[in-house]
Amino acid sequence: MKIEDFTVQQFSIPFVKPFITSAGTLTHREGYWITLSDGSVRGIGEAAPLPGFSKETLQEVRYALEGFHQAAEGEYYDRDELLSLIQVHTEEIPSARFALETAVFDILAQQKNIPLAKVINPKATAEVAVNGIAGIHFPGDGFSVMKVKTGFRNLFDEMENMEYLTQSYGADVQFRLDCNGAFDLPRAIRFCKEMERFNIDYVEQPLPADALEDLAELRFHTKIPIAVDESLTDYSSAEMILESQAAEVFIIKPMVSGGFIECENIIKLIQSENIRTVITSSFETQVGRTSCLHLTAANHITEACGLATGELLNEPDSIQIKLGQIEIPQLPGLGVSINEELEL
Ligand SMILES: [Mg+2]
Repeated sequence: MKIEDFTVQQFSIPFVKPFITSAGTLTHREGYWITLSDGSVRGIGEAAPLPGFSKETLQEVRYALEGFHQAAEGEYYDRDELLSLIQVHTEEIPSARFALETAVFDILAQQKNIPLAKVINPKATAEVAVNGIAGIHFPGDGFSVMKVKTGFRNLFDEMENMEYLTQSYGADVQFRLDCNGAFDLPRAIRFCKEMERFNIDYVEQPLPADALEDLAELRFHTKIPIAVDESLTDYSSAEMILESQAAEVFIIKPMVSGGFIECENIIKLIQSENIRTVITSSFETQVGRTSCLHLTAANHITEACGLATGELLNEPDSIQIKLGQIEIPQLPGLGVSINEELEL
């Protein structure tokens, strides 16, 4: 493939409601859309580091993309050479790697006239299961797993909230409680103890990202599975979490962990240890989120994944959710386009 053209477009899209993370409140989702062209086909991707989760800044992303651009433009590379060139130019900049890999796989898939997921794995699934989000999705939407933001109320209010949610969604709906690292060990133990009478799928990141020893200790005090999200940032962090026995569910964000190849390596590592794997978006626009969907389908992830997040952003969204399932676009390539008409 010869790279004839490469463009980078910055975006800033408002959240429908300000979005609260452990690193503060976000009003806009910011990042870059990239377009790569081999002269006949255009591939697209999204690089959008998520504050509080990603380590790189937007400026570092820009520099990495520029470096790749200068090296790649006008040269001929085969698939593996291009993927190595991406690796070299995106060390420590996982969001840029994710965007570039998406664009390359988008081109390769269009050349073969198949969906992106099938370039990665010809046996990719056609749909993925997704969880709903309390406050965004309603009991009639048909999700069997709901995610709830927790850890910022006092314990009595948390219990009242869970009673209310259980009544609203029904006793067979499972809840995932995302604490974003809010607790210390004693409070996490108390919280889990009180939550055991509800139908809880797992408690996500009850302790800060680096508290692996305490996470392992917490597992001895509760029957509820413990999941890591902020703690998991790349392959070596996955190894450390495994070694510490800190969690039994690993939540992988492709934007944070760095694209298709790194994620596949992490998935292989943790599945060999019988750890549950969940893929989630990083609240990307539909370009990045659809790329996460293809990655999930290519890796045959059967858990409900956190990819029903399009409604959090003020952006037109062509991805439909039906009863907790999303169909992977079956068009050649990524199957969605950049929303050019948005005012950025
Ligand atoms: Mg989380």
